[in-house]
Amino acid sequence: MRVVVTGGAGFLGSHLCEKVLARGDEAVAVDNFCTGSPANVEHLRHEESFQLLELDVSEPFTVEGQVDAVLHFASPASPVDYLRMPIETLKVGSLGTLHALELAQAKGARLVLASTSEVYGDPEVHPQPETYWGNVNPVGPRGVYDEAKRFAEALTLAYRQSHGVNTGIVRIFNTFGPRMRPNDGRAIPNFVRQALAGEPVTVSGDGSQTRSICYVDDLVEAILRMMDAEHAGPINIGNPHEISMKDLAAWIVRLAGSSSPITFIERPVDDPTVRRPDTTRAESLLGWEPHVPIEDALKWTIGWFRDQPLGGPPLSAQ
Ligand code: NAD
Ligand code: UDP
Repeated sequence: MRVVVTGGAGFLGSHLCEKVLARGDEAVAVDNFCTGSPANVEHLRHEESFQLLELDVSEPFTVEGQVDAVLHFASPASPVDYLRMPIETLKVGSLGTLHALELAQAKGARLVLASTSEVYGDPEVHPQPETYWGNVNPVGPRGVYDEAKRFAEALTLAYRQSHGVNTGIVRIFNTFGPRMRPNDGRAIPNFVRQALAGEPVTVSGDGSQTRSICYVDDLVEAILRMMDAEHAGPINIGNPHEISMKDLAAWIVRLAGSSSPITFIERPVDDPTVRRPDTTRAESLLGWEPHVPIEDALKWTIGWFRDQPLGGPPLSAQ
């Protein structure tokens, strides 16, 4: 198979490229490096089955030759990133998704859309099944990301129904692991970076808000199963391991062997209070459930961050 991964030089995209190559398929990473970096796929550059194309998918684009699958992962994903790039985020969710779907249509390829648990907004149903429509504020600061992904889902389904494109939608819940940018602003990279530097660990609000955290290897396995399947989705992909941000911060401080104090900062506007996937669909349709114990995954992630130069790999757009 030849698999195009948009956002292939990002955190999740780079792990997907790696796994696609490891199973003997070809990977074409397409990226404009606005939040990702060529450094994330540097170790793949010598592989004959790997290609990296610098492209902005919000502009029309094509990929020469055969394409069997498109994994559409291009989009800023951290709240700090998408608040810094609101228009770019809306464009990549809308126009970028349109162009990825056009590529899939032209090549007769399957497209898997990386949607998000953010389509549920600040949920009033807990845990969240795919049948829940969500509670999103379109004019709040997170609206640029949430609504872009909601539009992307609608467009993806329309291409399936109107043009017969073989599409699948996954709603990804908070995923972590090596190659997150230490300064990308998300909770786990922030907590790890701060703990390793011996700085105060910044928990927002009173830290009672929860997230359910999944290790990247489990996530990648689910995405490849979705790529190989024909299901339309949406299918939630995440680890139901739910934890408060206060407890997560304390856990990371302990695992890092740090003496950082925990400090409380202002809670972002519209920050979801709880989040946990109902993974019944993933289990029944993909035969998938997460296996990696979170404590091990946190230890590996801390170890990776410890080996990084301060601030992480360069970011071309900053
Ligand atoms: P990331 O920022 O590390 O990766 C995103 C990649 O997309 C980057 O390499 C970036 O440069 C690229 N990109 C952005 N706009 C682009 C454009 N217009 N053209 C080409 N490339 C572009 O983030 P990530 O955590 O790896 O997230 C990847 C995808 O998964 C995103 O679509 C995100 O919404 C989705 N997702 C991630 C999570 C998570 O917990 N990591 C959760 C839900 C959804
Ligand atoms: N958060 C925090 N300290 C930080 C960064 C984030 O307490 O330094 C909180 C954030 O307010 C949210 C949770 O951690 O309640 C998860 O935030 P993240 O940005 O990782 O993901 P998302 O909000 O997109 O789920």
